[in-house]
Amino acid sequence: MKIIPIILPTPFYIGPVNVYLIKDDPITLIDTGPKTKETVDVLRAGLRNAGISISDIRRIVLTHAHEDHCGLARALRDEAKEARVFVHGWETGHRAGRLEYEEHRQLLLRAGVPSDEVEAMRKLYNNFRQYADALDDEQCTELLDGAELEFESGVLQIIHTPGHTPGSCSFVRHADRTVIAGDCVLKRITPNPILSADPIDPSRRFKSLAEYLVSLARVRSLAPTLVLGGHGEPVRDFEELFTRYLRSMRERQAQILRLLPDNGGTAWEVSRALFPDTDDVHRFLAVSESVAHLDYLNMENKLALEISDEREIYRKAD
Ligand SMILES: [Zn+2]
Ligand SMILES: [Zn+2]
Repeated sequence: MKIIPIILPTPFYIGPVNVYLIKDDPITLIDTGPKTKETVDVLRAGLRNAGISISDIRRIVLTHAHEDHCGLARALRDEAKEARVFVHGWETGHRAGRLEYEEHRQLLLRAGVPSDEVEAMRKLYNNFRQYADALDDEQCTELLDGAELEFESGVLQIIHTPGHTPGSCSFVRHADRTVIAGDCVLKRITPNPILSADPIDPSRRFKSLAEYLVSLARVRSLAPTLVLGGHGEPVRDFEELFTRYLRSMRERQAQILRLLPDNGGTAWEVSRALFPDTDDVHRFLAVSESVAHLDYLNMENKLALEISDEREIYRKAD
């Protein structure tokens, strides 16, 4: 069961995305890249080098439904007439074109984001939508935690690894403990748990950082020898990366506790203090990261959370 990485260009700040061709029966593509002409061309060339064409693909499996990973799923499925798309059921809120905007808006307002900033984020999001075609539920088969994707010469086990998004999944080949991890594990950057509605109760916020830490521990328990992420180089020393992630999270939390004024503050205020120079998309990522850490500090009883004027104010616990 051969896993062939193909590196595709994206128009996003993060840079190129890694997708993985499993050259075995049935021919499977894990992630697709965004919907741009350049990406399709590079993908076609990459597949051709492996002796495959798009029409040979039978399964399109998505680690998660961000545009850089899922954008071409529908177009590829349409071209490879017999292909099926697989994605985790909790990925609905993120599935391209289906973001429940009103729920998201409420999450941002509650986090203290001013309404003109929310509007700017909405415009930005609408601009992103061009990079992905929407997928309907009927067009997708659900990835189930613990189930297996079978191939002629082996299996990949599906591991639900929420955090970056609620429905993020990783895939493990136990024979040599290789893990395909999407944006759950990235070599050079700490993955950002993105602000999301809870997939079970959309009026609540998904506890992204707490979930993410469990997912990381789960990947660690697989004792991986090789982790293939969604961006950047493969990770061979997962322990080192795990320790580094935890250290940077602890540092960020200590920084937030230092920054938070005695009379408390919103996630938006914390994000502006943490990243004063950010613009457009990075303001959203900054507020995402701040909410994730503040929620986690609240869960650990280091911060109290009160609602004032429909905004959430975090205060240092006595
Ligand atoms: Zn992502
Ligand atoms: Zn990504």
